[in-house]
Amino acid sequence: MLSLRQSLRFAVPATRAFATSRVVLQSKPAHKTATTLAEVDSNESLIGPGAKEGTVPTDLEQATGLERLELLGKLEGVEFFDTKPLDSSRKGTMADPIVLDSYEDYRYVGCTGSPADSHTIMWLKPTVKQPARCWECGSVYKINPVGVPHSHDH
Ligand SMILES: [Zn+2]
Repeated sequence: MLSLRQSLRFAVPATRAFATSRVVLQSKPAHKTATTLAEVDSNESLIGPGAKEGTVPTDLEQATGLERLELLGKLEGVEFFDTKPLDSSRKGTMADPIVLDSYEDYRYVGCTGSPADSHTIMWLKPTVKQPARCWECGSVYKINPVGVPHSHDH
């Protein structure tokens, strides 16, 4: 017969395995990938979501940055790259922004600083209501709406 002391000892769980808790750092980006032009609001929104598991990625899933912007544009019939280079001779300021003529009430601007290519391209989206400021160099861009072109004027 076991003594009281022995029973107590047996009741205590054996050596408790020490579980090393592994800290899993969430590297998942906090951005939302733009699926339409209207959703493009930063460089991060132009990072493709990648392929769904077990599938081959499509161009749209893989494309990032400039390429993605172009693809999104194509889906909506917008051409980006027929535009003249931006004025990079100076930095726009809030008081004296770089003014961009646009048929739309917004435009996508790829800023590389002043002089041109002094920083990696930053995609900005100035609208008629709100000028955009480059995160990298602080240059300010403003939209000057020039009305809608009429290609079917008969
Ligand atoms: Zn810039």
